[in-house]
Amino acid sequence: MSTKLIEAIGLARHYRLGTRVLRALDGVDLAIGRAETLGLVGESGSGKSTLGRTLVGLQPPSRGSVRFDGMDTKGATGAVLRQLRRRRQLVFQDPSGALNPRMTIGATLTEHLRVQGWERAAVRARVPQVLAAAGLSAAHAPRYPHELSGGQRQRAVIARAISTDPDFLVADEPVSALDVSTRAQIINLLRSLQRDRGLGMLFISHDLSVVAHMCSRVAVMYLGRIVELAPREALFAAPLHPYTVALLSAVPLPDPVRERSRNRIILRGEPPDPADPPPGCRFHPRCRLASAICTRVDPPLRWFGPHHAAACHHAGEQAAASAAGGPVRINAGRPAEEGGAGQMR
Ligand code: ADP
Ligand code: MG
Repeated sequence: MSTKLIEAIGLARHYRLGTRVLRALDGVDLAIGRAETLGLVGESGSGKSTLGRTLVGLQPPSRGSVRFDGMDTKGATGAVLRQLRRRRQLVFQDPSGALNPRMTIGATLTEHLRVQGWERAAVRARVPQVLAAAGLSAAHAPRYPHELSGGQRQRAVIARAISTDPDFLVADEPVSALDVSTRAQIINLLRSLQRDRGLGMLFISHDLSVVAHMCSRVAVMYLGRIVELAPREALFAAPLHPYTVALLSAVPLPDPVRERSRNRIILRGEPPDPADPPPGCRFHPRCRLASAICTRVDPPLRWFGPHHAAACHHAGEQAAASAAGGPVRINAGRPAEEGGAGQMR
């Protein structure tokens, strides 16, 4: 049995827009282990939801493949397809859009299980169980979505997702449509499911502090590509991609003194049009480190150590500077000099 639960291999998803092609996913390689939660961050439009939908099989890839528990998911039929559907589930951002407004919560859960081939009697026993597991009760079964609060609706969506006892869950910005007071409750629910059920999870969020709380490893996406992949600690302490540094510098620090004294790195401009990405490194027009090579050569994702990868021509310098304890150029907010650069030679 593989330690990898799900694997994306050269995964691409393209959309045709008239004569143009939008590469929402443009060659993603990624593996998520059993019971592992991988965080996925990146600006809006970077392809996070497309990756999530493709991993759970809601849409086919244009190129590349998804392997699940050692199986190639392409062309699966019959019992294998049913198993793949049961074992991979998705929790959407907006619970209102994810639930049929004309069906009670109980009916929604029943339908989901019946489609999976569950017998009526088993479904009747299962519905109250999954409602309880999601922090609701049997009293919520006869209610319609509009009769629930936003947090309760998201619990119902989570109840549906876990009802088939999946081993992989994509949580696509599961709290961003909720008000602040209910966010922590839903996060805690997902954490307990992670812990108690050994769920593997892709946790998509633009809130890096939530990602830090939920995820042991983090992937950073930019224009359809993974640009950095690292264990949480390494990503936060020693990021290698200037885009990651910019994302991190936008996270408010709890300590007001550190907050005032640090360098904020503001990303220049908007993300480019994904149907017309820049040549070379697609981040170069917004990058403070961009040099001649960046305008010409698209950097591949390279490994710096066993668990830390980045797609940046300058990542080697960053890795060397941080290993030497010197100033990391992109963090220092000024050109490399003294210690950092000197140690590298
Ligand atoms: P994210 O979740 O990171 O915000 P998405 O995966 O939703 O990003 O979208 C990535 C890119 O793909 C965006 O430019 C988006 O407009 C485009 N896109 C997503 N779905 C479709 C679609 N069905 N048809 C055309 N373009 C799409
Ligand atoms: Mg999205």
